[in-house]
Amino acid sequence: MRKNDMLEQWDRENFFHPSTHLADFARGDMPARVISGGKGSHITDRDGNRLLDGFAGLYCVNVGYGRTEIAEAIAAQAHELAYYHAYVGHGTEVSITLAKMILDRAPANMSKVYFGLGGSDANETNAKLLWYYNNILGRPEKKKIISRWRGYHGSGLITGSMTGLQAFHQKFDLPLPQVLHTVAPYYYRRDDLDMSEADFVAHCATELEALIEREGPDTIAGFIGEPVLGTGGIVPPPTGYWEAIQKVLKKNDILLIADEVVTGFGRLGSMFGSDHYGMEPDIITIAKGLTSAYAPLSGSIISEKMWKVLEQGTDENGPIGHGWTYSAHPIGAAAGVANLKLIDELNLIANNADTGPYLRQRLAEELGNHTHVGDIRGEGMLAAVELVQDRDSRTFFDAGDGIGGKVAAAMLKRGVIARAMPQGDILGLAPPFCLTRDEADQIATTMRDALIEVL
Ligand code: PLP
Repeated sequence: MRKNDMLEQWDRENFFHPSTHLADFARGDMPARVISGGKGSHITDRDGNRLLDGFAGLYCVNVGYGRTEIAEAIAAQAHELAYYHAYVGHGTEVSITLAKMILDRAPANMSKVYFGLGGSDANETNAKLLWYYNNILGRPEKKKIISRWRGYHGSGLITGSMTGLQAFHQKFDLPLPQVLHTVAPYYYRRDDLDMSEADFVAHCATELEALIEREGPDTIAGFIGEPVLGTGGIVPPPTGYWEAIQKVLKKNDILLIADEVVTGFGRLGSMFGSDHYGMEPDIITIAKGLTSAYAPLSGSIISEKMWKVLEQGTDENGPIGHGWTYSAHPIGAAAGVANLKLIDELNLIANNADTGPYLRQRLAEELGNHTHVGDIRGEGMLAAVELVQDRDSRTFFDAGDGIGGKVAAAMLKRGVIARAMPQGDILGLAPPFCLTRDEADQIATTMRDALIEVL
């Protein structure tokens, strides 16, 4: 009998798993996957299978698994001081140190960091801060937030609304009316295949401007976007996109939130995606890469311009009425400090700028001629392979086919994890920053073999 054989039964009977087909799982129509260990770019399941994790968990275990430096920092902090709150001016040595380290790495005009637990609550904070900001400035009508279709910003009420994926709206009565969506910067999926990249960028800016005009610029508080669309398909923006979008936002006095939950702290080969694309955000959302997921911690990095207004608000109204018990949790902060040090010491961002493009080159070599591979794209240590029924017309496979999921399953059988992205037949790759060239080779050849098996 397998060790701890009751585990699967307990799992199916007791555990409400996120983003899971609940009925299939309860019936046993899908596997229960129990992960028991990890080292470097690999995880091990309880059956002893060793898997190359091409998605770093949920693109978050950036420094790789099993880093004793982070584990020891967490343990030392738990022994010293497991918790104290951050309310009413309280701090801990480690959370103050981390705030300083974040600001030292952030773009120049950023001023303060507010800590949360995960990306969703950080973006909830950000939405509230946009509203607070405009109330303090005497603009109570300026409250709506624009995001993009295919954007992902979390699973809460306002964040689930900002997320531009239908699956996160349907049957949840979302999006809330304060949230509007504009076109995704997804050049490969443009309606008019004859459109140049420059014309497509102009189209994105025009669509945004038209939406702002329709609603009235005085009703729009902010625009939120990931530097590279993540969960919506790993889609880097076309050249000039952020410049064009920011021109529209500035003209209409609309604040920009750069959601860098995935891109923050090095994934694109630069410290922040904002640096990478010349974005000048008023808020930067950080989470996953802040601690490499060794402990939950997120943050909202606030610009000097916003900060001044928040200070004015508390002079006028008293302490800001927004706080989480676990804001700046010392265990998360200890993980964050050790993680950021490790990224520097091991020069991992440079590895992303080198091994990331190598991975895409190898994918192109192994898969580029396959009749069902429509697009291979990415940036830094992010890559996607988009599968299509027909390359020229870019037609989708029938929705029911689930080709992406089948290829991911065939890869898993061969010991490599890729993520079938939730929309379309897109295989996503976001490996740990310590990925080697040999491991990149293995991902590419495994995806090729899996593709041949399925298609
Ligand atoms: N923002 C982005 C860009 C994300 O990719 C995610 C999660 O994948 C979130 C926000 C939400 O973060 P969390 O799942 O930690 O709430």
